[in-house]
Amino acid sequence: MTDLQTLLKQSAALHNHLCPRQVLGVRMGLAAGRYLGIEVPQSDKRIFTIVETDGCATDGVAVAVNCWVGRRSMYVFDFGKVAATFVDTHTGRAVRIVPSAQSRQLAQQYAPEAESRWHGYLLGYQRMPDDELLTIQEVSLTVSVQSLISRDGYRVNCDICGEEIINEREIRREGLTLCRACAGARYYALPDEATAAVRTVSACLDALEDILRE
Ligand SMILES: [Zn+2]
Ligand SMILES: [Zn+2]
Repeated sequence: MTDLQTLLKQSAALHNHLCPRQVLGVRMGLAAGRYLGIEVPQSDKRIFTIVETDGCATDGVAVAVNCWVGRRSMYVFDFGKVAATFVDTHTGRAVRIVPSAQSRQLAQQYAPEAESRWHGYLLGYQRMPDDELLTIQEVSLTVSVQSLISRDGYRVNCDICGEEIINEREIRREGLTLCRACAGARYYALPDEATAAVRTVSACLDALEDILRE
């Protein structure tokens, strides 16, 4: 097993600095390996990790377990929580790990020499034992890891925008194959749509003026 300090160096290199949440992420990943009885960082994709935030903690988890969004061994459900569930894909066992409720207070006690609260977290999180730092719970998943991973090489095209959709993320509606954007979950407007909206509003105002003039 790679030791904490080596993993923290790797995480910091990726992240340009070391911060308390990366330490939490690395500690969570190491604890997951111990709990599931799998050596981490793994050399294959046996562990699939679902993280509940992006950012610093996620980098720590990724380095410790060797799970990456880009390698499709990590998935983000963005609940804005420093939390992660580690799934042993061979057995289906899953363990969710979060920093314990008292981890913030306790960290300071483990780093009495720290010059600030931030440094207290940075050092304390490295020194605390697992059972004080983390809450570790075996869980059963309500989503299928297989559906999150999907199939290699699968692709279809959206019947409305024509764009390619991979990983079975399409939606079937009334015989049509739709991307999520065309099915209504779009988070952007196209330039001509913005102009069209302005035109609609000014046409309404013109009509209103006409009515008022009459
Ligand atoms: Zn950071
Ligand atoms: Zn579409």
